[in-house]
Amino acid sequence: MSTIGFIGLGHMGGPMAANLVKAGHKVVGFDLAPAALEQAVKDGASVADSAVDAVRGADVVITMLPSGKHVLGLYEELLPVATPGTLFIDCSTIDVADAREAHDKAEAAGHRSVDAPVSGGVVGATAGTLAFMVGGSEADFQAASPLLDVMGRKVVHCGDAGVGQAAKICNNMILGISMIAISEAFVLGEKLGLSNQALFDVASNASGQCWALTTNCPVPGPVPTSPANNDYQPGFAVALMDKDLGLAANALRNNGVDAEIGLKAAELYSRFHAAGGGGQDFSAIINDIRDRSTE
Ligand code: NAD
Repeated sequence: MSTIGFIGLGHMGGPMAANLVKAGHKVVGFDLAPAALEQAVKDGASVADSAVDAVRGADVVITMLPSGKHVLGLYEELLPVATPGTLFIDCSTIDVADAREAHDKAEAAGHRSVDAPVSGGVVGATAGTLAFMVGGSEADFQAASPLLDVMGRKVVHCGDAGVGQAAKICNNMILGISMIAISEAFVLGEKLGLSNQALFDVASNASGQCWALTTNCPVPGPVPTSPANNDYQPGFAVALMDKDLGLAANALRNNGVDAEIGLKAAELYSRFHAAGGGGQDFSAIINDIRDRSTE
């Protein structure tokens, strides 16, 4: 069993840490939010007075934080005090370049490190059914796997440091683009007198088939469990899609990729977020498209 310093006990980190406790690991958590610490205690974790105290004596450190700035800032504090050879697992979604910098710093300080961003949301974090996309050496991946298996259902070693983050943003760029494509098609169909159900019945059995249509359908009716049937309660919030597409757009620009549609998708989600849509499921982009279409 491992002794795990777990930093960032928010919507995702809280239930992930709880699953590690349930599996018998010793978890010492820290978060800046007192409510997160209270919940961690209820879940059976110990809590520390600072992030530094949480990692002293740990053999694994897991971080689940809002951004690369937070991860790199904390690594500055934590790397010098962690026991040499500690395995750092960063599960946050952050910029690929930041993930590589975090990895290099951990290695230079004598530690092991993987980036292991997740997909599956709060529901997956709670149920222990997340998908992990891992970047790092084979040995560090093997060392991290037993813990990731506790928190997730699918763990994929994608390649070297930073490549887990690359998989995450590439997947979510596909998702953002495909949701916009599906939404534009429904709005066009409505204008042309095609019912939502008829378009669904055709596209879901034809070459337009994709997850954004068949699982997260942006109109109410055809897929009763999609957030559109529940007033677009997330699900996967627009604010998070905006964040992930922003990371994808950075990576596209930094690497000179000619990806007009990916950059446009980032722009559309950023605009919808800025207009107040951040708390809705990302399929609510269909309402933005409808609102912006002429009579
Ligand atoms: P959250 O805001 O609920 O949790 C982040 C936590 O980090 C907060 O509790 C905050 O207090 C804490 N924190 C920030 N700075 C800290 C510091 N210096 N020391 C200690 N604690 C600190 O966010 P979340 O929804 O749990 O997301 C966490 C990460 O997971 C993000 O990178 C997000 O993009 C990614 N993610 C989220 C989802 C989702 O559905 N929420 C899905 C996939 C990936």
